[in-house]
Amino acid sequence: MANWETVVVNTDLLICGGGFSACGAATEAAYWAKKKGLKVTLVDKAAVDRSGAVAMGLSAINQYVGIRDGENTAEDYIRYVRSDLMGISREDLVYNIARHVDSTVHLFEKWGLKIWKDEAGKYVHEGRWQLMINGESYKVIIAEAAKNAIAAAGGEIFERVFIVDPLMDGNKCVGAVGFSTRENKFYVFKAKAVIAGMGGAVHVFRPRSVGEGFGRSWYPPFNSGSSAYFTIKAGAEMTCQEVRFIPVRFKDAYGPVGAWFLLFKSRAISATGGDYMVVRKAELENWKPYGLVKPIPANLRNYLGMLDTEQGLGPLYMETDEAIKNIAAQFKDDPKAFKKKMKELESEAWEDFLDMTISQAILWAAQNVKPEEKHSEIAACEPYFIGSHSGASGAWVSGPEDLPTPYKWGYANMTTAEALFAVGDGSGASSHKFSSGSHAEGRIAGKAAIKYIVEKGKEPKVDMAEVEKLKAKILLPLDLWEKHSKETTDPEINTNYMVPRQFLHRLQKIMDEYAGGVISGFKTSKALCERGIELMALLKEDSAKMAARNHHELMRVWENNQRVYQAEAHIRSILFREETRWPGYYFRADKPKMDDKNWKCFVNCQYDSKTGQWKMMKKDIWTMPGV
Ligand SMILES: Cc1cc2nc3c(=O)[nH]c(=O)nc-3n(C[C@H](O)[C@H](O)[C@H](O)COP(=O)(O)OP(=O)(O)OC[C@H]3O[C@@H](n4cnc5c(N)ncnc54)[C@H](O)[C@@H]3O)c2cc1C
Repeated sequence: MANWETVVVNTDLLICGGGFSACGAATEAAYWAKKKGLKVTLVDKAAVDRSGAVAMGLSAINQYVGIRDGENTAEDYIRYVRSDLMGISREDLVYNIARHVDSTVHLFEKWGLKIWKDEAGKYVHEGRWQLMINGESYKVIIAEAAKNAIAAAGGEIFERVFIVDPLMDGNKCVGAVGFSTRENKFYVFKAKAVIAGMGGAVHVFRPRSVGEGFGRSWYPPFNSGSSAYFTIKAGAEMTCQEVRFIPVRFKDAYGPVGAWFLLFKSRAISATGGDYMVVRKAELENWKPYGLVKPIPANLRNYLGMLDTEQGLGPLYMETDEAIKNIAAQFKDDPKAFKKKMKELESEAWEDFLDMTISQAILWAAQNVKPEEKHSEIAACEPYFIGSHSGASGAWVSGPEDLPTPYKWGYANMTTAEALFAVGDGSGASSHKFSSGSHAEGRIAGKAAIKYIVEKGKEPKVDMAEVEKLKAKILLPLDLWEKHSKETTDPEINTNYMVPRQFLHRLQKIMDEYAGGVISGFKTSKALCERGIELMALLKEDSAKMAARNHHELMRVWENNQRVYQAEAHIRSILFREETRWPGYYFRADKPKMDDKNWKCFVNCQYDSKTGQWKMMKKDIWTMPGV
């Protein structure tokens, strides 16, 4: 085995991940931990200042309810999420986040985030729930608050340490193991409670960007299903694993469309000029009641555009020129004011990309796009797992203590594995929390985890013999490389191993062709899912043959292994749910209709690490009384 030092870290609360939800958890938990003399430790595979989905910055805070100004209520938010997810949401969780999210946003502002204000001093909304921000440094600001809180409470932060597996004592999570992506160090974190906040997953499906563009995707490439893997391997019940997210974005550089649709009120059209939201309105009747709700659920909006492309009416375009002209038209009688407004709109259009998807600005420049003169192509991306956004996959967590929810077995956001909490993309069926809601959820879980430690926390019992086995398994790819890489003239072609990229291509091919990726028009069926599961079993067998030539590739190996579990949970859940509920995200071609009678329920699954078997189950939907 590679000769790496084993570093043991003892803590009370371990926070895995350093993104938005983890920073929320750290800020809140450290506050309570300091009062109780407890230690909080945060571990991120990257550098917290620029890690996770918000690394590059964002141009809007997507969840702000506006309760103090009477703009909306938390109940309104429940209704919005219920419709957008076609009836499938944990209303207790959605409510809990919605009632706390505004205070989180106010903290962001206090910490220095610039939120746009109008002349009356009110927040500028992009849409009903979204606030415009100067967000290039959004993550840095939120990370600073978390780091300060941990430092003030005497905690520790480990950066560039990749968390692999949970440590279990029966059904209780007692820590985690991982490795440094820079030094020869294997880490063992022993904890009384653990929070999984390691984001969602990308590159489970083959991306549209292949060849020289490989790696480019809407979802940042850093998150590889670590939250899902961690909670699945801990034996926690998982939910909504079939609910992937497919955004429609500016084509090829995945630039955001929110500002265009919501702020600029732009239309999207087919190549022949038809506005598919208008032309195909009748189709929405087939998906009622959700199809008739405003705003129309994201998957149905996708679906109407997909119907156009399927019938050869693509490419689809965002009418940027028309939108800009419509807004500037208010100033048409004053040429000077008109010119000034046009300039302002043009710079806002570019800034939207420069704030969060710089490559879209580069692509526009490369393709001579002037948004005020010419429309720009949009397309459906490949599928992603992002339960905090418009997907819903994640762990099945305990609801808030003060609500009459039937889903309560412990402390808020605790999974069905004791002492293990999940947040952000890691917790399921509570979509549309976005950056602010993920942070708020992190705060909820951080506080609950400290409460758990104070009331029930015991010294973690960690079996060091098991740890040694895990260390050998995790470092094996380095040994394989060391032993066999000189056997062939091209070290990437070897009968004893494969490199992580080769494995990744195989996984993506299976998912693309059998589980409804881009190549199959997002369609799958019982037979395709079953075949996909057969191929996945062979892939899993071969996973022990991945080799790594350095720290970075070792991380790639474990990212791949983690993706496989996310992939398998996904195919099994699509197979189990015998209907199509989210057209525009995926279609069960053999069950093309929504079946509320049999399938208006959650699909949950649970993995047994000892037997390698999955258990699939239905769970009832609970609706908040009076909402
Ligand atoms: C392209 C895009 C655009 C978005 N736009 C908006 C927007 O405009 N407004 C808005 O409010 N929200 C937006 N969101 C949503 C928002 O970014 C997410 O809701 C939020 O980041 C989720 O928080 P999280 O903590 O679950 O994950 P993340 O913030 O992604 O954090 C995950 C963390 O886990 C770490 N990690 C991953 N694997 C491991 C591992 N194995 N070991 C240790 N650490 C690990 C990562 O380094 C990272 O720090 C957008 C998301 C995307 C992808």
